[in-house]
Amino acid sequence: MANINDYNFAGKKAIVRVDFNVPLNEKGEITDDTRIRGALPTLKKILADGGSLILMSHMGKPKGKVKPELSLGQIVDAVSAALGVKVAFAPDCAKASEAAAALKPGEALLLENLRFYPEEEGKPVGIDKADPAYDDAKKEMKAKQKEFAKNLASYADVYVNDAFGTAHRKHASTAVIADYFDADNKMVGFLMEKELNAVDNILNNIKRPFTAIMGGSKVSTKIGIIENLMEKVDNLILCGGMTYTFMKALGGTVGDSICENDKLQLALDIIDKAKAKGVNLVLAEDCVCADSFSNDANTQVCSAKEIPAGWEGLDIGPKSRIKFADAIKNAKTILWNGPAGVFEFDNFAVGSKAIADAIVEATKNGAFSLVGGGDSVACVNKFGYADQVSYVSTGGGALLEAIEGKVLPGVAAIKGE
Ligand code: AMP
Repeated sequence: MANINDYNFAGKKAIVRVDFNVPLNEKGEITDDTRIRGALPTLKKILADGGSLILMSHMGKPKGKVKPELSLGQIVDAVSAALGVKVAFAPDCAKASEAAAALKPGEALLLENLRFYPEEEGKPVGIDKADPAYDDAKKEMKAKQKEFAKNLASYADVYVNDAFGTAHRKHASTAVIADYFDADNKMVGFLMEKELNAVDNILNNIKRPFTAIMGGSKVSTKIGIIENLMEKVDNLILCGGMTYTFMKALGGTVGDSICENDKLQLALDIIDKAKAKGVNLVLAEDCVCADSFSNDANTQVCSAKEIPAGWEGLDIGPKSRIKFADAIKNAKTILWNGPAGVFEFDNFAVGSKAIADAIVEATKNGAFSLVGGGDSVACVNKFGYADQVSYVSTGGGALLEAIEGKVLPGVAAIKGE
């Protein structure tokens, strides 16, 4: 694969997979342009070299149908403003060859939402997986997906993938298209490169001690990452809703707390595995319990193993905050995924704030800290800490799969693997 730093785009047409799946309000206005800003270094380099840009992205989940409320036409002006050049719009991504051919160096074209075509995702529509005809429909769709990708590829001389958020998907624009460019003319963009370097620091370039903090609601959705991290970390803090599955597995009472009763053995296995690997597994000792799932609920602090009937643990308690902070403050590598409590309610955001404070302190003392996966990013933003940690990932599912140790199809396709 080529390297974007060394590549000269002069006179070339570059088709760039970006992640412009930005949130819109009911008037179609962008409410958070982080993803557009994230792609700018790559896009500006291509234009500055004297290349022309063909931008492609998905927005939302139109499931292979044209949905005007998910049209990328709504964001053309914002992309033009961010890029500093007037961006043209191709209202049908599969019929844009003339518009692409007409592009001159320094010009840019944005294609309509790729997912208006089912070929982008490559899943047959309108047929159930249980239907005997499903396999044939899938084969047919995969063939169509190749044609769709080949057509997109024909617009350009070079392919750049800068959409880390969709790199875990084997879609036409994220992976299949790469087959139609030779190794010297396909590459990852700057944003993708930064994301992959951040993951590499966490998985392969570890400075010790390494502390990972996994929170969120359920252990079942995080088990792949927990298992992979168990091979790497010195301290593993497990918090959030999954605390109560562990407490119940250890013989505690958890009241109305969120608890996966079918995962009690899994929790015990994780505890045993940590012991066997010499990993310091840190669980909450106390928690802030509420008598209802609301910000204004009555609260009490109790042992995480002794939650009274009718009460539910919605945050970690003061002893746990100190215990967690101790395992974070002296770390040299830190990964945070998932809040310690229901941080969306201010009264139950204290534990997550304590974690964020400790990460910021460790980062000031030279640690590499990566925060990623949806809700923990929302957490650092809520506390105003986004620029005080080493790296905030833009990828949700892609980041989690990369940390699980899975090869991302979007990256593999470019590397020719
Ligand atoms: P996840 O998507 O699995 O990372 O979970 C994030 C969600 O977990 C957030 O919306 C939190 O509100 C929720 N969460 C964290 N701690 C708890 C808890 N103790 N009880 C219920 N939900 C929780």
